[in-house]
Amino acid sequence: MKYDYLIVGSGLFGSVFAYRAKQAGKKCLVIDKRSHKGGNIYCEKIEGINVHKYGAHIFHTSNKQVWDFVNSIVEFNRYTNSPVANFKGKLYNLPFNMNTFYQMWGVRTPAEAQAKLEEQREEVKASLNGREPQNLEEQAQLLIGKDIYETLIKGYTQKQWGRKCTDLPAFIIKRLPVRMVYDNNYFNDKYQGIPVGGYNKLIDGLLDGIEVRLNTDFFEHRAELEAIADKIVYTGPIDEYFGYKFGKLQYRTVSFETTVENTPNYQGNAVVNYTEAEVPYTRIIEHKHFEMFGPDIDVCPKSVISKEYSTEWKFGMEPYYPVNDELNNALADMYRELAKEEKNVIFGGRLADYRYYDMGPVVEKAIGMTIL
Ligand code: FAD
Ligand code: UDP
Repeated sequence: MKYDYLIVGSGLFGSVFAYRAKQAGKKCLVIDKRSHKGGNIYCEKIEGINVHKYGAHIFHTSNKQVWDFVNSIVEFNRYTNSPVANFKGKLYNLPFNMNTFYQMWGVRTPAEAQAKLEEQREEVKASLNGREPQNLEEQAQLLIGKDIYETLIKGYTQKQWGRKCTDLPAFIIKRLPVRMVYDNNYFNDKYQGIPVGGYNKLIDGLLDGIEVRLNTDFFEHRAELEAIADKIVYTGPIDEYFGYKFGKLQYRTVSFETTVENTPNYQGNAVVNYTEAEVPYTRIIEHKHFEMFGPDIDVCPKSVISKEYSTEWKFGMEPYYPVNDELNNALADMYRELAKEEKNVIFGGRLADYRYYDMGPVVEKAIGMTIL
């Protein structure tokens, strides 16, 4: 055997695994069917700006081991995600915090905001009549009241998921923080940031000195590739590995309309959500704000923006977010059972696990699977 590991996929999981395996003295070959490394965290340089080609990525974690690990490869900047919501031209801060409550109701102290929230919740509790919230609409109204639900949640969620809030599970909304302080930081995690110089620096650092073959689809060269390594690390879709024998898993996908704007500062923030149903896109990303701060913003005379449209996924499209509903989870479980029988194959990452992982957990899992 020429290699200890054949790693299928040069995304974050495959790259962290390859780095750790190399540290342990193992010889790896990484392949990817795309023409570039990095999977979905890959950035394309346009007008000197790192454009997050597969959607905006913000690294956040509370796990010190994960944070120290990624920082040992590349330094991270001080970017803090603080999206703004635009509803019919009026702006609100996210996540729901004292700024939002002031903008919505004119309340200035936590006690005033709490009283307003309680008043709104009472109405919802009365209509629930002791019953648990059954769907996203009921859950959201119970969490934050009708005013914020109608303004900041209803339209956005229906666009994002292509379904009515009454037809969506309650859990989707539970992870949004509600804060009684003036704090627009979207995440509760201890650490967050963007690699200085962009995500490609992280991937280049991880894969430094490791053989990578691009434009190489595992399934087109399966027999030959299986014969050159002792073990395979597979990070592609789990159903594809097994020839879709139980059926195809579904995804939610996003399409991006990316344009170069002739201004150094288009919207003054990296993320602006459009929360009304009538605007067809869900949000606009202005990429330079992930890495350029203060006076640096104006040094670069242009800006690159991406409008995000939630699109119904069809087979053959880019698989973005796994749909972890009952039907798809049951199907994924059947494939996971089969995966246990593949003694020489390690399945890992978002597509092979069919789980909605952020980058932090992906790094954590890849580190955990390569005990040095
Ligand atoms: P991927 O990045 O998908 O890599 C898999 C690789 O395998 C790909 O390069 C693919 O080409 C390759 N591959 C697949 N099949 C084959 C084959 N047959 N042969 C060869 N190669 C193959 N996480 C955060 O922490 N913060 C965020 O803000 C955030 N935003 C996100 C926004 C979007 C739109 C999406 C979709 C995800 C976001 N995530 C975010 C999650 C993040 O992208 C993932 O956690 C991470 O990139 C997963 O890495 P991975 O290696 O598992 O998968
Ligand atoms: N959400 C919303 N309005 C917003 C932002 C988020 O209603 O302005 C809801 C929406 O239902 C979304 C959920 O909160 O699916 C989780 O949002 P988050 O940004 O955490 O999720 P992601 O975009 O990463 O799926």
